[in-house]
Amino acid sequence: SPRKDVFQFRNQPRGMPVRIPLQLRQDGDWGELYGRFDEAEACHQAGRCLDCGNPYCAWKCPLHNYIPQWLELAREGRIVEAAELCHETNPLPEICGRVCPQDRLCEGSCTLNDGFGAVTIGAVEKYIVDRALAEGWRPNLGKVRATGKRVAVVGAGPAGLACADRLARAGVQAVVFDRYEAIGGLLQFGIPSFKLDKSIMTMRREVLEGMGVQFRLGVEVGRDVTLDALLAQFDAVFLGLGSYRYTDGGLPGQELDGVLPALPFLVQNGRIVHRAGLADVGVEPGVHSRPIAGWEDHIALPDLRGRRVVVLGGGDTGMDCVRSAVRLGAASVHCVYRRDEANMPGSAREVANAREEGVQFLFNRQPLALLGDGAVRGVRVVETVLGEPDAGGRRNAEAIAGSETVLDADVVIIAFGFQPDPPDWLATHGIALTGNGRIVTSGEHGALPFQTGHPRVFAGGDAVRGADLVVTATFEGREAASGIVRLLAQPVRVADIALET
Ligand code: FAD
Ligand code: SF4
Repeated sequence: SPRKDVFQFRNQPRGMPVRIPLQLRQDGDWGELYGRFDEAEACHQAGRCLDCGNPYCAWKCPLHNYIPQWLELAREGRIVEAAELCHETNPLPEICGRVCPQDRLCEGSCTLNDGFGAVTIGAVEKYIVDRALAEGWRPNLGKVRATGKRVAVVGAGPAGLACADRLARAGVQAVVFDRYEAIGGLLQFGIPSFKLDKSIMTMRREVLEGMGVQFRLGVEVGRDVTLDALLAQFDAVFLGLGSYRYTDGGLPGQELDGVLPALPFLVQNGRIVHRAGLADVGVEPGVHSRPIAGWEDHIALPDLRGRRVVVLGGGDTGMDCVRSAVRLGAASVHCVYRRDEANMPGSAREVANAREEGVQFLFNRQPLALLGDGAVRGVRVVETVLGEPDAGGRRNAEAIAGSETVLDADVVIIAFGFQPDPPDWLATHGIALTGNGRIVTSGEHGALPFQTGHPRVFAGGDAVRGADLVVTATFEGREAASGIVRLLAQPVRVADIALET
């Protein structure tokens, strides 16, 4: 391997992979924005790492990935070992490499942020795993001994997939149920392809199936099969149900034509963009599943070409909507957010990309009403200032009297976020919920991590913590699997049987 240059962090500037040219994006290219490093670029960028004695990057990552170690392996060109090490802590590394808000997590904590520019950790992670998988490397489960135990995983989002991966590595048969026809949850049906190409999910499915994970897709638990039936057939159950109840803000006029909820907009658009991609995974295009929490999944998508689009909300979902609207040919795209830029929940990198693509941000504006007669024609907004912090420490946006204006709009997309929508059948199994519908578990420090009120049911991801991140869902799925494995290693206790009856 090439000798490490200890001054590489200084001699070699931080660099990201090339991006799709702006004009192509504005002309409707849905490909992943960032390309992939070649071998030399990956080696140069990975070689900038200082191998800190106390790696802040790894501490900040919810999965505590062995970042400096796999950066060094990548620098040395030892890709298979690097990919193996990535998988030690992270069941979905090529996905996290693409969609994690690294600027808030590992890269945001990198020592080199003191003027030199953080190591491009996410892009190297993507390079390592993509290359290893493309060259035929697969997790080696040759030494795993089957336990004969079986676990039902409900939900094929990152939480469920991470859980299934760790169960397979522990010799437990994981069978994953999802109401959708393809795996990934929001990775497949939510996050647009310019952040995550759907062929990545196809590859991950192949990897998991190679590890012995089975998928039962198009099956909704509670409707097509009951939790009781799963508990009878399996030794334990993991719930990674996600968080899909749409927050609409209760704005007057939201029933007007041209007002769209964010997720059905993204899902439906994604289906159109990826029709070919879904056909690749053996799914008939257009054949699909269930509405999301009362919103018809197959909404009629208006033609955005030449239209004035306003997106309400400043999180990841809002950023995906504005950037989708650009690619769909909108004449103008505005993002309305009630706090300032520093307080936006979305990743700063995504905001910068959106701005470059022509999105205009209206910070410190609170929408009050959607205006129009039959069809939406505008949004009444009021200017805000940041007031006192709320109970969670976030400063509230307070309206400035007399500052109301109307923003012209032909299409308004509401992206205020999501709340858990726990199904009724949870309560009948003694699975407790918080006041806002999150599943209560023993948490990561529990004797059996992420165990619910039912001793054989575990849960994790957005259904437990509320709408959050891919990496936190992956962490909870991984940890829940360790809890399940410990439970299954215990002799059956009479008390457990009694609890279930
Ligand atoms: P989900 O991904 O929601 O998966 C849950 C799965 O459970 C779904 O497939 C659902 O069909 C299935 N399911 C639910 N109930 C049942 C049932 N009864 N029977 C069978 N199946 C069921 N995070 C990031 O880190 N980076 C990003 O860039 C990012 N962008 C985002 C963009 C959008 C538009 C959205 C909405 C979210 C984004 N997030 C992002 C958040 C991230 O996607 C979620 O935090 C993460 O997917 C949660 O994982 P999960 O496994 O808990 O749930
Ligand atoms: Fe390397 Fe930055 Fe992590 Fe230090 S904080 S080990 S420089 S990636």
